Amino acid sequence: MDTQMLIGSGFQTGKDAEENVLNPKTGESIVMLPEASSEQIEAAVAAARKAFKTWSRTTPGERSGYLMQIADRIEAEADEFSRLEALNCGKPINAVRNDEIPAIVDCYRFFAGAVRCMQGSLAGEYMAGHTSMLRRDPIGVVASIAPWNYPLMMMAWKLAPAIGGGNTVVFKPSEQTPLTALKLARIISEILPEGVVNVVLGRGGTVGNALINHPGVDMISITGDIATGKKVLQAAANSVKRTHLELGGKAPVIVFDDADLEAVVNGVRTFGYYNAGQDCTAACRIYAGAKIHDKLVAELTSAVASIKYADKDDTVNEIGPLISARQRDRVLSFVQRAMEHKHIEVTTGGAAHGDNGFFFQPTVIAGALQSDEIVRREVFGPVVSITRFSDIDEAVDWANDSDYGLASSVWTRDIGRAMACAARLQYGCTWINTHFMLVNEMPHGGLKQSGYGKDMSQYALEDYTAVRHVMIAH
Ligand code: NAD
Repeated sequence: MDTQMLIGSGFQTGKDAEENVLNPKTGESIVMLPEASSEQIEAAVAAARKAFKTWSRTTPGERSGYLMQIADRIEAEADEFSRLEALNCGKPINAVRNDEIPAIVDCYRFFAGAVRCMQGSLAGEYMAGHTSMLRRDPIGVVASIAPWNYPLMMMAWKLAPAIGGGNTVVFKPSEQTPLTALKLARIISEILPEGVVNVVLGRGGTVGNALINHPGVDMISITGDIATGKKVLQAAANSVKRTHLELGGKAPVIVFDDADLEAVVNGVRTFGYYNAGQDCTAACRIYAGAKIHDKLVAELTSAVASIKYADKDDTVNEIGPLISARQRDRVLSFVQRAMEHKHIEVTTGGAAHGDNGFFFQPTVIAGALQSDEIVRREVFGPVVSITRFSDIDEAVDWANDSDYGLASSVWTRDIGRAMACAARLQYGCTWINTHFMLVNEMPHGGLKQSGYGKDMSQYALEDYTAVRHVMIAH
């Protein structure tokens, strides 16, 4: 197992406080990893600044070649990456191997292509006797800070457009899930020139805080909690750094009376509970039409009760545990507070599971009202609430009545109603008769307090580059 940080071209063990990296399936320690000292953070930023001078002048074609090599190596070592990610996050091995790894490899390949065909306005004589043209140039050194729910995928979403766009990076994985980032660091050191990507370990309040406040960092890219995003904005204000924020979500799922009930039940069973609900797009906040509501509650309850988890044979598991005891207890406290309301009924689940690891029972909460905490706040666990609505206006108003604006879905057989509803939803993404599906060609990102950075797609390359105007007098 790789345990050292990549700083410049060298590997170093952290010199500061140790973090206990846990196996969420058992609660046992995997490894103790010391975090970067302030000198090591300085060295990583200095290495990235130095590398920027030459990396920023490579051609898109050259950078594309490097991204292709990274994709090929991840693909070639997919089994070991999957094993590590499953170990460190508690994910079912098949979910990592079959769902995540192909999407990660495709992300590097997508940006390898996209960086070679960026678009812009035409050069021309917009003032007589002068020719204007546009450029898109890299920003500089990007501090990239990732969460624990999809460690290797978040690394791909952040690294590929950043280095593809000509930037250099100091990457910090979550202190809870650094193992795949450390493995990829080894591969990166064999492929990329020195200093283009540096990987440092550490907690948010120490190493993360040092990076976001560092004068040598030009841009901060973070996926995490809203509270963390606000700290990033405060830090960025001091030196007017560019920021790329991907914060939480609380996805509304509007189910009209004419929806295909079986599709809704299957969809929510999968997309509400995938990754044990630790997903910012999780289909967790259902609004059901009055006529379909009772059938949906009954059928979803029995479907969710059949979700396989915590089986000794991991190949049959559909979901894993939560990432930590803290996260499990946080989810439990949300459910317990919800249960204090007389109008709420927990129709399945509602408690932690077993003595080993951080498992939580897949849970359905019926009878929730728009004002309830369980409808308003991000739980980030395998918990879905159902609220009855009376008409489209109420459904749309309630869906939009949220601090979040990342993802949403509409389920109906009436395509006109679906389109009218989608047009009114204030979310970065609206799916119709599905949920959760992402493709590297399309942007992922939010509105409101879900943040404003776009991951994946040509729009991510735009986020990691600056538009510049060059004008020539004839
Ligand atoms: P978190 O905010 O606690 O941590 C995210 C990262 O930020 C970690 O690497 C952490 O060390 C770092 N960090 C924490 N405090 C910091 C600080 N003061 N300065 C600098 N860095 C700091 O979030 P988490 O618990 O790891 O992840 C879960 C959250 O991420 C959820 O809210 C979820 O919705 C969100 N998320 C959003 C998306 C998206 O695309 N919008 C994707 C995945 C997760």
